Amino acid sequence: MAEIAVKTIKCDACGASITGISTWKPSVCDYCGSEVIVELPAASMSAVAERPRCVGFRLDAAQAGERLRAWLKSSFWSPGDLAATARTDEQAAIYVPAWEAQVEVETAWQGARSETRHRRVSKTRTNPQTGQTERYEEDEAYQEWYPASGTRQGSYAEVINASGALTQDEVSALMPWDTGAEAMEEDLADALNRGRRMEEPSVGAEEAVRRAREIIEGRERSECQTLIERLDSASTRFGEFLTQRVIVPVWVFRYNYKGKVQRAVMNGQTGELHGERPVSGLKVALAIGIPLAVIAAIVIVSMLMK
Ligand SMILES: [Zn+2]
Repeated sequence: MAEIAVKTIKCDACGASITGISTWKPSVCDYCGSEVIVELPAASMSAVAERPRCVGFRLDAAQAGERLRAWLKSSFWSPGDLAATARTDEQAAIYVPAWEAQVEVETAWQGARSETRHRRVSKTRTNPQTGQTERYEEDEAYQEWYPASGTRQGSYAEVINASGALTQDEVSALMPWDTGAEAMEEDLADALNRGRRMEEPSVGAEEAVRRAREIIEGRERSECQTLIERLDSASTRFGEFLTQRVIVPVWVFRYNYKGKVQRAVMNGQTGELHGERPVSGLKVALAIGIPLAVIAAIVIVSMLMK
């Protein structure tokens, strides 16, 4: 790895620490657009401890920007002028810190399944001819519940967010990354030289395992719910966690819409996108208003015809 001079900034608004080449002149935070950023003293890249495995970018700035604009346009609910407001100078290629957590699990579940049965019931009714109350019998359906239980095995390789600014939901939405040997960035220093940035991790291995357990427990529960009509409990046992630091490539976009900063993130390898698209008030008003106007017209016409 070539040795280069780097600088790190810390954002007071979102807490992210971002490292870039020493000639980088940041005015706002790449993640949240805040101007409240503090520059830490310059350092040498070699002074930074050994770097973890780093997945390389496959989409360049132009390709990523193009995809974002297509995505903004593709939502019917987005305001028509939104794609035009997305500026390429508000996108950053960031190597985002993460943990890869691999584990085998076994989940024991308990629940119940039901069967529809019929029983003969006695009812009363008034005979319209005689006016008398009479008894009659009828079949009535009811559900009978039977206890059921079982176990299932699962194998997980989760990417756990170690960014101080991105949320786990944002990172999970971009999964998976190809972490094979040929997908790795060969020279991180060279990548920083070309204007890319790297975020310093805010989450340690222990916390990553805790977060992975929570996510996997939720997934296991959902899986068990597909196995049985009514799930009462699911208890997951974890094997030994294998954790490894990894850096994943993410394009971070900030775009202003009517004074509000929105963020979208893109998997720098696959182009998978996640973010909130602003909703056009006019389109929503029209969508609700047109059916209401039609109903009103029908009511008026039917009243006039009486
Ligand atoms: Zn920030």
